[in-house]
Amino acid sequence: MTTPMMQQYQQIKQQYQDAILFFRLGDFYEMFGEDAREASRILEITLTTRDKDKEAPIPMCGIPYHAVNTYLGKLLNRGYKVAICEQVEDPEKSKGIVRREVVRVITPGTIIDKELLAEAQNNFLAAICQVDDIWGLAFVDVSTGEFYVTELNAGNTSSVVDEITRYNVSECLVAPDDPGAIRTLLEPVCVVTSYPPKHWSVKRTQLKMEEQFSRSGLEAAGIIGCEAAVAAGGILIAYLSDTQKQTLGHINRVQLYSPKHFMLIDGATRRNLELHTTMRTREKKGSLLWVLDKTVTALGGRLLKKFISQPLLDRNEILSRQQAVTEFVNNMFLREKLREYLKKVYDLERLVSRLVFQTANGRDLLALGQSLQYLPLIKERLEHAKTTPLLHDCWHSLDTLTDISQLIMESIKDNPPVSVTDGSLIKDGYSEEVDKLRQAAASGKKWLAQLEQEERNKTGIKSLKVKYNKVFGYYIEITKANLDHVPTYFQRKQTLANAERYITPKLKELEDTILGAEDKLVKLEYRIFSDIRQTLAVETKRIQETARVIALLDVLLSLATTAVENGYVAPKILPSEDTMEIKAGRHPVIEQLTTAGAFVPNDTNVGDKKQLIVITGPNMAGKSTYMRQVALITLMSQIGSWVPAQEAFIPLVDRIFTRVGAADDLSTGQSTFMVEMNEVANILHNATGRSLIILDEIGRGTSTYDGIAIAWAVIEFLLQEKKGAKTFFATHYHQLTALDNIYQQVANHQVAVQEKGKEIVFLRKIISGGTDKSYGIQVARLAGLPNQVIKRAQFLLTEMENQGNSAASIEAAAAKEDHLVFFEALNSSYETVLEKLRHLDVMNTTPIEALNMLSELKQLVDEGDNSEQN
Ligand code: ADP
Ligand code: MG
Repeated sequence: MTTPMMQQYQQIKQQYQDAILFFRLGDFYEMFGEDAREASRILEITLTTRDKDKEAPIPMCGIPYHAVNTYLGKLLNRGYKVAICEQVEDPEKSKGIVRREVVRVITPGTIIDKELLAEAQNNFLAAICQVDDIWGLAFVDVSTGEFYVTELNAGNTSSVVDEITRYNVSECLVAPDDPGAIRTLLEPVCVVTSYPPKHWSVKRTQLKMEEQFSRSGLEAAGIIGCEAAVAAGGILIAYLSDTQKQTLGHINRVQLYSPKHFMLIDGATRRNLELHTTMRTREKKGSLLWVLDKTVTALGGRLLKKFISQPLLDRNEILSRQQAVTEFVNNMFLREKLREYLKKVYDLERLVSRLVFQTANGRDLLALGQSLQYLPLIKERLEHAKTTPLLHDCWHSLDTLTDISQLIMESIKDNPPVSVTDGSLIKDGYSEEVDKLRQAAASGKKWLAQLEQEERNKTGIKSLKVKYNKVFGYYIEITKANLDHVPTYFQRKQTLANAERYITPKLKELEDTILGAEDKLVKLEYRIFSDIRQTLAVETKRIQETARVIALLDVLLSLATTAVENGYVAPKILPSEDTMEIKAGRHPVIEQLTTAGAFVPNDTNVGDKKQLIVITGPNMAGKSTYMRQVALITLMSQIGSWVPAQEAFIPLVDRIFTRVGAADDLSTGQSTFMVEMNEVANILHNATGRSLIILDEIGRGTSTYDGIAIAWAVIEFLLQEKKGAKTFFATHYHQLTALDNIYQQVANHQVAVQEKGKEIVFLRKIISGGTDKSYGIQVARLAGLPNQVIKRAQFLLTEMENQGNSAASIEAAAAKEDHLVFFEALNSSYETVLEKLRHLDVMNTTPIEALNMLSELKQLVDEGDNSEQN
């Protein structure tokens, strides 16, 4: 027989099968059965059982309710959903079993608790939905209220995944029938939830959207008729009300964006260019964001991230940002003042969601009030900067919210407690009633002291005391020795060994006032606080609008600050067909990581006459750095930033593609040729004549001749099919330099290297012309290989160059030479070295492999030397 409580549990669990159910029992959340097994493992808490003596004991585990956030965080990080089931009636008042209900389902995409959120990052929940041959995509950040929808062509599932990746979505809703088999593509990217449960009509999703945003709101956003976008949006709204169990007033504005509006940056390019994190360590330090981020608010930090992943395509929009940045660059005093004020501004977006969810506490409100006080100052300063259209807009739409700050500063006490039900929230002077009760409670204590004195005088008992305990409330205690003097109006309540306890009508009267006042005060303060919170929640839209302006100002100021500190210039933005010209360009990140002045600037000229640059040069010369520098300068120009150069003319590009040859791509760990070719295929399909393409040692993942042939054919295809696409191609195949004899759009560049005897010095300077020297042996020398090995390699190389590129030639070369001491020894280590060299296919060896090989040989030789000595 299961107990009634377990029956209740089963009933609720039935409805939340895909979530872990936190079942509230007193001060604990308990988990049972499979939930308990999984949770105990992940949370590292003890698994016990319920009904131990029964035949089938139920596994269970529990966590204290006050520590719920720590545990929640761990489960959400692992992609679990958690249904919070609370006792929804007072256990003392309920007859039989306490009523329980799930009050919220928390999923990775619907977190709002500030302890669980990273401040500088949006937490997006997405939904995708196919209607006819169009994908609708919708994104919401429940913690800030942002809501975006868009549409993409259904044929192109990879662009759907790109879009989801770009938003850094933590959870995505996909229909269970999943027509595009998109689930498998998304699973490595985020948590995928099946939703809606069964086939929904488009009509139904439309109604959901209208309920949330109103018909006119949808019209204003221009999404009436975008069936797929509306459907995806409606699914999101439905899922939110399913999980949050309340209306979400702060989500009140939907924005339709066309991905055409922004430059699409695919995942590989984002990684290669290290926009938000570095490739190897995935840290912010060393990324473009790290260099550009001088924001001082959490709002601005999040917006800057968005700017970087969504460069603009419209020249006017870019220029309007750039003008604003320039204004701030030129006006140091204004810049510093504004940043100083912005520093004081609280995370308004997140606060708004806590207002709507009614979870904001006194400290939140006070922080809001305090930060709003800076708005009038900010607006006043902006007055001087409103010469540029964008800053004029900011000035114009900055609502200083003085009514709100005034309300808060008048009503909320200076040091409010974390809890909102313990009183001490409301300032003296705000509510007469509060003041009265507070006074009553305080003076009640004084009156008690007076009463004690009076009774002592009347009875003549010096040791008479007024005391308090929870059972009797206030009472008078008289020691046994003084019982004779007790007056008749004392009513005896309790007898102790040494004393008796009494009450008097007057004492009880006082008690009512004191206890009643405290109780009433706490309740009243809570009510007033809730009212204030409600009043503020109504102003959601105004606060959000202000938050938007603050974030934008912060980002523009941040870009200006970086520009000043790092010596950037404002790029001239040109039409797509024009030539890109950069004078003394620098890599924004590497220049910060090298000692001051050590970075060697380089010029760039690509476009009209020469659209494709083949760059040759030894390993470590600086090819990759140079190409990334061009890509980053272009991207920075299109987000409205200034750029690291002496002068820059940047034609708009519609996309930036970067691919790194398989052997160089350390991040994925799967350095297969297949991945490399997949990515190249993507570029050949999606690039246009207005794209910027960076190909770094493409073709390297296969044998030399295959690699050269593929690289050559790819370049020809780009020249013919993507006329005008600005392309950089770094390679160590010097054969590719022949392309510039055939195609006039191709130019050869090399990274200069100076030979000093047998040594080489990297000059890091891009000069015209190609090189057919790879300096592999010199690089190996720089890397510290022993002289003997270098000498031998040099000999073999010369021999092979003389004898031609056949496998037999190295064998012949190796056999020919016999004067080196270590080959005379018949020690087995040396034999192995010889053996290895005989089998070495030099022409199919990349420089990295050659290095590894040399170091292996060296180790063998060392071993041989050691055993000889023994
Ligand atoms: P490659 O791609 O030719 O092998 P990289 O671009 O990876 O070479 O650069 C090799 C190293 O040289 C990097 O560590 C980089 O920091 C440094 N480097 C590259 N370009 C410059 C430059 N212009 N000025 C100073 N250091 C540079
Ligand atoms: Mg490289």
